[in-house]
Amino acid sequence: MARDPRYDILFEAVQIGPVTAPNRFFQVPHCNTLGHARPRAEAANRAVKAEGGWGVVCTQEVEIHPSAELTPFVEGRLWDDRDIPQHRMMTDAVHEHGALAGIELAYNASHAPNLYSRIAPMAPSSAVVHGSHPMQARAMNRRDIANVRRWHVDAARRARQAGYDIVYVYAGHDMSLLQHFFKTQYNRRSDEYGGSLENRVRLSKEILTDVKEAVGDTCAIAFRFATDEVRGADGLQWESEGRDIVGMLAEIPDLWDVNISGWDNDSSTARFEPNEGYQESYTAFVKTLTSKPVVGVGRFTSADTMVSQIRRGVLDLIGAARPSIADPYLPRKIDEGRIEDIRECIGCNICVAQDMLAAPIRCTQNPTQGEEAKQGWHPEKIEAAASDDAVLVVGAGPAGLECALQLANRGYQVSLAEASQSLGGRINRESELPGMSSYTRVRDYREYQLSQKTNVEIYLDNRLSAEDVLALEIPHVIVATGSHWRHNGCGRNHAFPIDGIDSVNVLTPDDVFAGAEIRGRLLVYDDDHYFMGSTLAERFRGQGHEVCLLTPESVVSVWTENTLEQEKIQARMLDLDVDIVVSHELISVSSGRATIANVYSDRHQRTLEFDTLVMVTSREPDETLYEALQHYSDRFQTLRSIGDCNAPGTVAAAVYDGHSAARYLQSAKDDYAPLFVRDMPTLD
Ligand code: ADP
Ligand code: SF4
Repeated sequence: MARDPRYDILFEAVQIGPVTAPNRFFQVPHCNTLGHARPRAEAANRAVKAEGGWGVVCTQEVEIHPSAELTPFVEGRLWDDRDIPQHRMMTDAVHEHGALAGIELAYNASHAPNLYSRIAPMAPSSAVVHGSHPMQARAMNRRDIANVRRWHVDAARRARQAGYDIVYVYAGHDMSLLQHFFKTQYNRRSDEYGGSLENRVRLSKEILTDVKEAVGDTCAIAFRFATDEVRGADGLQWESEGRDIVGMLAEIPDLWDVNISGWDNDSSTARFEPNEGYQESYTAFVKTLTSKPVVGVGRFTSADTMVSQIRRGVLDLIGAARPSIADPYLPRKIDEGRIEDIRECIGCNICVAQDMLAAPIRCTQNPTQGEEAKQGWHPEKIEAAASDDAVLVVGAGPAGLECALQLANRGYQVSLAEASQSLGGRINRESELPGMSSYTRVRDYREYQLSQKTNVEIYLDNRLSAEDVLALEIPHVIVATGSHWRHNGCGRNHAFPIDGIDSVNVLTPDDVFAGAEIRGRLLVYDDDHYFMGSTLAERFRGQGHEVCLLTPESVVSVWTENTLEQEKIQARMLDLDVDIVVSHELISVSSGRATIANVYSDRHQRTLEFDTLVMVTSREPDETLYEALQHYSDRFQTLRSIGDCNAPGTVAAAVYDGHSAARYLQSAKDDYAPLFVRDMPTLD
C-alpha cells in the first residue's frame, strides 16, 4: 500500500552537521546487554532496525576508558584500538541498509563502580558511588580533567575509524560525569569547573569543542542532555538551569538529543506515564534556543503524534528506544501504509529489566528481540511451513495467540480453540488493573493480524477436552491453557499451605477478576513481588476499601526494581493510604485474624485483622488437558505445552514460548533449542 501523504514529513531527510539522516526516525542510544560481550548479536540487533527504516541507529552507552566501566552490566566498549573491529561490524551492518550509525561515548564517573578494572572511580568532587557499593569516588584534579578530555577525543577518533557517522557526548540519566559537573549536589569545586553555572558547564563545552575539532569535519556531534530531573527544586529544572545550559551550548553540538533524568523518568512505564510524548513539557523549549536539529523521545508509536511533534516545532527527529525494540519495522510500516501492522510498545519495561539483570535484551511485544544473531530470528520473516499439516492451538492467551499467528505466517493451517468468548487470556483480566491497560496491545495486535489470515480458524467458547482434541485428528497440538493463582499460599516463602487457610474467606486474583464479593478490610498477601499485589491494592483502594499490603520482602513489589517502577509503586501505595507491612510472612490464619512473623526473626510475631484475604503468591499451571493428551502421545506428531501452562511467568515469557514453538515446529529444534549461536571470545 502507498504511504499516507500526511506522513510524508516523517520521511524528509534531515541535515545533522556534516551528515544527512535519510528520514526523521531516530533510534536513540539504548542498552541491550549485547555490547562488548556479544558483538555479533549487537550488530544484528541494530541492523534489523536499519532494515526496518530507522534513519539513524545508535549504540548503547560505550565506555571510553577502564576508569569508568560498568561491570557487571554489559554496554559497549571503546577503550583502545582493539575494540574497533567489533564496532565496525555494527556500522557496516547499519550502513548496508542506508542508515546512519551513532555512538554514545560515555564516561560514567560515580555511577561506575569499576568492579572489573578496580580503578578508583572519579567524580567532580568526592562522592559516594551509586548503588549500595561500599566505596566512594575521588575528586578529579586538573590532570584527571585533561585526561577525560583526551579520552573523549581518542574515543571519538576511534569511533570515526569504526565508521560511525554521529558521535555523542553524554550528559544524562544521572549516570554521566558531565551531568554530574552541572549539579551542585555532585560538584562542590572551587576552581574554574565549579561554582557558577558557567563554570559547571565548562567541561561539557570543552569536550564538545575538542570532539568537534577532532572528528567534526566528517562526523556529526550530538549532545545528549537531560533538561530536567523531575525532582522539582531538589534537582535540575528545565525552567532555570536546564534552559541556561541549552542557551550556553546552543550552537556547539550539531544535534541536541534531549530527555529527562533519571532513567526511571526517561523510560517511564505506561503504568506511570500512560501518554505518548510525556516528555514534551520538559523538552519543547530546546528548539527555541538552538538552530540545530533536536531529537527527543516519549514512547512514540503513533504516526499522527510524530507528525504533530514535527509540525508544532517540538522535535525535528522522532527518537525511540522502546518503540524500536517492540517494532524494528515501525518506520517501514508507516512508509508502506501499514499502520495497523505496527506492534506497539506497551511500556512494560521488560526490556529494561533485562539490562538491570545484566542479561541480554528481550521484549514482551517482540519475541525476536535479542535473538537476531543468537537464533537467526527476524521480526518480520519466518521460515515457510515444513508441510501442509494442520495444527491445533488450544488456548488464546499471549502464548496461544503468538503461536497461532506465527504458525499462520509460516503457512500452516491453524485452528485456534479458546474456552472463553474472547481472545486474550490473562490480558483480558490484567489489563483491567490500574495502569495496565496498555497490555491490551499484546492481544489487539495479534487478534488483528490473525483476522487477516485465510489459513486460521478461530473457535471461541470452545473448551476442549482430551476426547475433543483426539476426535479432531490433527497431527500437531500445542496446548496453551494458561494457569491460575493458588489459594493456599504456596509460593516463594511457603513450600506448604499456610495453617488455617481453608477456614477463612480467601480470594485469589482470579476470584477478584471473576467478580467475587469483596468485604470490609482487605489483607493482600504479596509473595509474588511483581505488579499483581500492588495493582490489586490500588484497585481496592479505588473502590473505597481499607487495604493492608503484606509482603515478606523489605519493599513492596520488589521485582519492579528491575522495571524502574519500585519507588513509584511504593510512593503510590503510601499516597493511597495503603497500610504497608514489609519483611513479614503469614504464619497462620483464622477467622478474621492473621498471625504474621518477621522474616528475620520469628520471635517478632503479631496479628492483623481482616475481613477478606487476597493471596498473590504463585500460580498452578492449567495442564489437565496436556496431561490427559500425553497418554495418547503416539497419536500426535507434535504435542507440547507452552506459556503459563508449561511454566507460569511473565507475558513476555509466554509470547516468546509461543513464538519459539511456532518457529521450530517440525524442525530439528522443535523440542528445545539447545543449539544457538554464541559470541565466543577467540584465544590467540
Ligand atoms: P498464556 O499466558 O500462557 O497465554 P493465559 O492464561 O493467558 O496463558 O491463556 C490461556 C487461555 O487458554 C485462556 O484464555 C483460557 O480460557 C484458555 N483455555 C484453558 N483451557 C482451555 C481448553 N481446554 N480449551 C480451550 N481453551 C482453554
Ligand atoms: Fe516496550 Fe515492553 Fe517491549 Fe520494552 S519490553 S520495548 S517496554 S513492549
